[in-house]
Amino acid sequence: MSLQLSQDHSLQHLNTFGVSVKANWYAEAADEAEVREALAAASQLQLPLLVLGGGSNLLLTRDVEALVLRMTGQGRRIVSDDGVQVVVEAEAGEPWHPFVQWTLQQGLGGLENLSLIPGTVGAAPVQNVGAYGVETGDVLHSLLALHRPSGELREMTAADCQFAYRDSLFKREARSWVILRVRFALSRQPQLKLDYGPVRQQLASMGVEQPTAQDVSRAVCATRSEKLPDPALLGNAGSFFKNPLVSQQQAEALRQQYPDLVCYPAGEQVKLAAGQLIDKAGWKGHRAGDAGVHALQALVLVNYGRASGSELLALARRIQADIRERFGVELEIEPLVY
Ligand code: FAD
Ligand code: NAP
Repeated sequence: MSLQLSQDHSLQHLNTFGVSVKANWYAEAADEAEVREALAAASQLQLPLLVLGGGSNLLLTRDVEALVLRMTGQGRRIVSDDGVQVVVEAEAGEPWHPFVQWTLQQGLGGLENLSLIPGTVGAAPVQNVGAYGVETGDVLHSLLALHRPSGELREMTAADCQFAYRDSLFKREARSWVILRVRFALSRQPQLKLDYGPVRQQLASMGVEQPTAQDVSRAVCATRSEKLPDPALLGNAGSFFKNPLVSQQQAEALRQQYPDLVCYPAGEQVKLAAGQLIDKAGWKGHRAGDAGVHALQALVLVNYGRASGSELLALARRIQADIRERFGVELEIEPLVY
């Protein structure tokens, strides 16, 4: 048995909010065999098993009554290459941004808009990680997952993952899956996506006229660094709320009242920018003790030092209630709240 179990393990440095809580039991798994050992150990301890990557999409509001299993397996490789289309794969514990940079160094495009996102490769499919107009599901080739209820290994295509906006089968059935390895379909002649947010503007200010995938990555990194807090310096979990989808009638009514309201078409519905609503309601830069709303990006809740998870959650609940009352819009929390 190679799995090392530790009891009452601090999770403070394992969640990017930096919230100080403990796990009943903690272990790290570098491969499938260790994941299976951990599942057996959790069952013996009569505890649930909570899978952890980089801890950048969760809010821990109390000690975790579970065996927390951090995925640490690393490794990345090219698995097929026809000269243009290339499939690469990485182990679940591979850190995301260095993996993206590695694909770009191989001359492969597809993941450039997803640069500088914290976390691990194995977690990217969980919430169909997305930014600047690209989502994981757009470039996912397939993945290997352990189906916990049956103990079977499953090869899954993008269609099997049931991807949606910041959502997937794995987020909806969180206790049923451990993602072990993910493959991406990339290209040596990528179609660059430049029309989202300030990407073109950033490229222009960098003096780039004919961008490569590496240029797009640099532009995305520059834009993100300007406005998103670095979790190493200020605890946060990125966007705390999803952008809400409302009916066209509701968007029109809100626009009468707020002519500068940002609205994007989303099928039959309209997507609003949650950050703009929170900003309009006056929460940007708000601070209650050590829990706050980031001064440059209202969608990001921050921990100035010693905020507890429940203080951060209480702030989120106050924001949700205020946005409901002012705009009649429900904000859904994006990270996993434990
Ligand atoms: P964790 O937080 O450890 O886990 C998240 C969830 O996935 C948990 O439910 C966990 O149980 C599950 N999980 C993790 N690994 C596995 C696995 N191998 N198998 C099964 N389940 C697993 N997100 C975006 O979508 N777009 C962004 O642009 C973005 N920007 C961010 C910027 C900042 C500054 C921060 C702090 C966060 C940002 N995020 C963004 C959120 C977060 O980084 C991503 O969701 C990321 O994929 C989470 O990875 P993780 O390894 O930290 O997951
Ligand atoms: P932004 O560029 O200020 O844009 C605000 C919102 O408008 C974004 O949420 C984005 O929606 C939407 N948007 C912008 N251009 C759009 C277009 N052409 N079509 C449709 N929707 C458009 O956003 P930001 O906060 O700086 O973030 C930039 C990107 O990184 C966004 O894609 C955002 O989702 C992502 N991001 C995510 C997290 C996270 O934790 N989930 C954290 C930081 C950044 P979408 O969010 O739907 O893309």
